[in-house]
Amino acid sequence: SQQSINRDTIAAVATAPGRGGIGVIRLSGPRALEIAHGICGARELKPRYAHYRNFTRGEQLIDQGIALFFPGPNSFTGEDVVELQGHGGPVLLDQLLHATIELGARQARPGEFSERAFLNDKIDLAQAEAIADLIEAGSTQAARNAMRSLQGVFSEKIEDLVENLTHLRIYVEASIDFPEEEIDFLADGKVSADLAALQAQLTAVETQARQGSIMREGMRVAIAGRPNAGKSSLLNALAGRDAAIVTDIAGTTRDILREYIDIDGMPLQFADTAGLRDAPDRVEQIGIERAWEEIRHADRVLLVVDAEQAHTLDPEAVWPEFTAQLPDAEKLTLVLNKIDLTDYSAGLQAHTDGVPVIAISARTGSGLESLKEHLKQCMGYSGAAEGNFSARRRHLEALARAKAFIEQGASQLHASGAGELLAEDLRLAQHALGEITGAVSADELLGKIFGSFCIGK
Ligand code: GDP
Ligand code: ZN
Repeated sequence: SQQSINRDTIAAVATAPGRGGIGVIRLSGPRALEIAHGICGARELKPRYAHYRNFTRGEQLIDQGIALFFPGPNSFTGEDVVELQGHGGPVLLDQLLHATIELGARQARPGEFSERAFLNDKIDLAQAEAIADLIEAGSTQAARNAMRSLQGVFSEKIEDLVENLTHLRIYVEASIDFPEEEIDFLADGKVSADLAALQAQLTAVETQARQGSIMREGMRVAIAGRPNAGKSSLLNALAGRDAAIVTDIAGTTRDILREYIDIDGMPLQFADTAGLRDAPDRVEQIGIERAWEEIRHADRVLLVVDAEQAHTLDPEAVWPEFTAQLPDAEKLTLVLNKIDLTDYSAGLQAHTDGVPVIAISARTGSGLESLKEHLKQCMGYSGAAEGNFSARRRHLEALARAKAFIEQGASQLHASGAGELLAEDLRLAQHALGEITGAVSADELLGKIFGSFCIGK
């Protein structure tokens, strides 16, 4: 499906910069073998055999090492690939690289080997990204997830979704094409049932992808609440130092303050948001807009409530204006603060519909351990890590778009019974999913993804 053009031959040092036991030069492209012969001598390099050879640049002997030839298309890039494994000295590898360039190779751009693997259909885009994630993994869990993505666990789930979407779309389109049949889509239980199944499948993938993205990038936690609830105090208590300004003047925290805090090796990114209230002045107004932006993008929202002011643990009763604007109630945790000042268990009415409540005192530190434990649970720390895969924000956004299109299609179907609109929405959903695996991809996006890779990968 991707264009497979006869490209130039690229070369790069594939091992990390600096000194090492061995260093590897990688060549890929139509002239890889010819260039390798120019360095290793004319004797045949048998495919996938290790050959011990002299490496020369012109007349000069540079190094001795192993040459490996992987003929295309059964190579990493899908092109002819040669690896020259020499000693791991930077000067040496530089000379070897120059030798390949003098023989007609071009220095590879960052990620260009992986990009060629993608363009030659050896891996899809999500798998290519998993290579970078694997190299950059900051924890064992993140590395394991990246490996699963690289093996295609994530891609298979997306392909499954696309297949089911396509089937439904074909069915709907076929019905439109034969209007004399006059199919009533609403009455047709199959369409509704398939749509519901599709939505459930998409939601399941989204949940797993979010977990994977959280493991990779760290969980984003927004601390929200009315002025003086103790948001800044909570951030300071978690960070163990005075990062935020704590005062009793309402509206002190006007901008977003970020802290990266490690909880048992899990990266968390906290943001203290401005006090959400009707702001009297313009500067504070901007702070409030940013706070909402932060809350929308957060993986978890801690709604901090002053225990002295609260009479109930129902977030909706505590602050209806807030919960009304909250896009996703599932990511909400109610943090009841200042329990050192009040016997919170006495006057408060319990709330039961699923919003977790953690009682703390930012001042004395009581309850902080429970809060940390809760956040770890939210990240999937002790949850079923098996079956997870690495995912990026880009993937989550694409999944969310696909979900929105399917929902829109479903509601249009129920409102008007219009199959045309549903078919179009299914097409758009499919397109959004295609961006994940790279079935549809803009050059600009590819440039951005592969440009962030290291050279030689
Ligand atoms: P913010 O506006 O939500 O960021 O609230 P701050 O963190 O600035 O705190 C507002 C006031 O409440 C300050 O005077 C804090 O010292 C006080 N405060 C915060 N947390 C607690 C707590 O757990 N116990 C008590 N007694 N006071 C607190
Ligand atoms: Zn504050």
